[in-house]
Amino acid sequence: MKIETQLIHIGEEPNLKEGGSGDVVMPIHLASTFARQKVDEPTAGYEYSRSGNPTRDGLEKRLATLEGATYGLAFASGLAAETTLFLSLLKTGDHVIAFDDLYGGSRRLFSRIFHENFDVAISYVDARNPENVEAAINDNTRLIWMETPTNPLLKLCDIAAIAEIAKAHHLILVVDNTFMSAYFQNPLKLGADIVMHSTTKYMNGHSDSVGGCLMLSDDHLHEKLRFTQNAAGAILSPFDSFMILRGLKTLAVRMKQHEANALAIAHHLEAHPKVKRVIYPGLESHPQHDLAKKQMSGFGGMISFELNGGLAEANTFLENIRYFALAESLGGVESLIECPALMTHASVPKAAREQIGLSDSLIRISVGIEHVDDLIEDMDQALRQI
Ligand SMILES: *Cc1c(COP(=O)(O)O)cnc(C)c1O
Repeated sequence: MKIETQLIHIGEEPNLKEGGSGDVVMPIHLASTFARQKVDEPTAGYEYSRSGNPTRDGLEKRLATLEGATYGLAFASGLAAETTLFLSLLKTGDHVIAFDDLYGGSRRLFSRIFHENFDVAISYVDARNPENVEAAINDNTRLIWMETPTNPLLKLCDIAAIAEIAKAHHLILVVDNTFMSAYFQNPLKLGADIVMHSTTKYMNGHSDSVGGCLMLSDDHLHEKLRFTQNAAGAILSPFDSFMILRGLKTLAVRMKQHEANALAIAHHLEAHPKVKRVIYPGLESHPQHDLAKKQMSGFGGMISFELNGGLAEANTFLENIRYFALAESLGGVESLIECPALMTHASVPKAAREQIGLSDSLIRISVGIEHVDDLIEDMDQALRQI
């Protein structure tokens, strides 16, 4: 079955058995507990909704299929998925290697909670070069945490090369696949052990649900994650499970349009005199364009670009843009825009921002699926105001 079909049918088959009502859409099973006929026999395997819920099960089945995994697990947010993973697979004294250009919330969770409170050591490395990952491995290393492309600088790491390093050293490789969605990149097929998504972004795609998930095929790792999902309880609600099942149905058509719009805007900005540089993996000028073509089947909808000037110019531009909502987050059908130095990465000290190449006039856009002519016209009029 091709992904376009999986997105619509997997996990949402109408129940045509006796007693079933044949709903073509997954019902939202709100029950917190499930009655049984015999004391020792849960009905259809369901006991209590934290442990298992039919709506969430349907979503988890679809999520697994989309990444070519055996198992899918859904959580209350992307960070809840990450927390569950860390709680399940690590203990005090363990060491984790992570990309140095990580989603800010992941870095805060790893450093401020798992490092500060639980003594998990974290090394942040420039994973664009896989040798930097290998060089950071020590006797206590248990896990490698990658994100590709990164946020907001759209740096890539070679998943297959890092998976080989992980295998050789018996380490678990996790890839945060939020930016590409399961439509454009499948890390498990490149050798990663676990894939993570913030479903809040492209997977749900409509900026109306917060959620996260993990997909994997290893039985032993799955057992540990499933245990913690129930024991710690950071589960996705039945309503949000329904929302993501619904959002996923259009993932393929949305991602194609996000990408087509992003490519056109990236080319347009690259030729604009008020723009210093454009970062988009689909541009020939992206230093890792070849790697992008190798491990992704598309380039996604995220673009970062630097204006000529500094914070003042960035401010003027942002105050004049109309169709791009000035907001954090990404991956919805509506275009969003933000200035990392003023918004998502404001908590990172200026010196640290500059060290990773994050200048004051860097703008990040999440290109929506509006008509691209309107988006380009809007960009042009806001650029004229500078
Ligand atoms: C948003 C995001 C997360 C965190 O997900 P939440 O659903 O906000 O908890 C993690 N990684 C990436 C790349 C993200 O964009």
